Parts: sequence; structure tokens; C-alpha cells
Amino acid sequence: MSEKLICGKCNAELVPKTINLNYLGHSLTNDFPCCPVCGQPYIPPDIVSGKMHEVETLLEDK
Ligand SMILES: [Zn+2]
Repeated sequence: MSEKLICGKCNAELVPKTINLNYLGHSLTNDFPCCPVCGQPYIPPDIVSGKMHEVETLLEDK
């Protein structure tokens, strides 16, 4: 990731953190940029939908 992300609320640089996402009862673990001050994760919508598509594909394979 080349682009630096800044928390709009705290003006702090986001740091990568492992986040658990839950989607339709399935949990995903991935690294996302998070604000070190308020803890708010930044999850780009395209990454979320890409990950969700990945899960859906995995489920379809079974
Ligand atoms: Zn923040």
C-alpha cells in the first residue's frame, strides 16, 4: 500500500491492523488500516466487496 491514509477525526496516520469481519455468519480476517487513536478501521468498499466475492466463490465450490 503506497498511499498514506489519515483519520479524518484524529488527523492521525492509519496503521495496519488485523481486523475480523463478519459477513452473513462467516468471519474473515484481514489487515486493514486503522486509526491508532480512535481505532476506527478504514475498509475500502471495493476491498470489502472483493473479499465478500472471494467468500461467496469459496462457498460455491463446496
Ligand atoms: Zn481516529
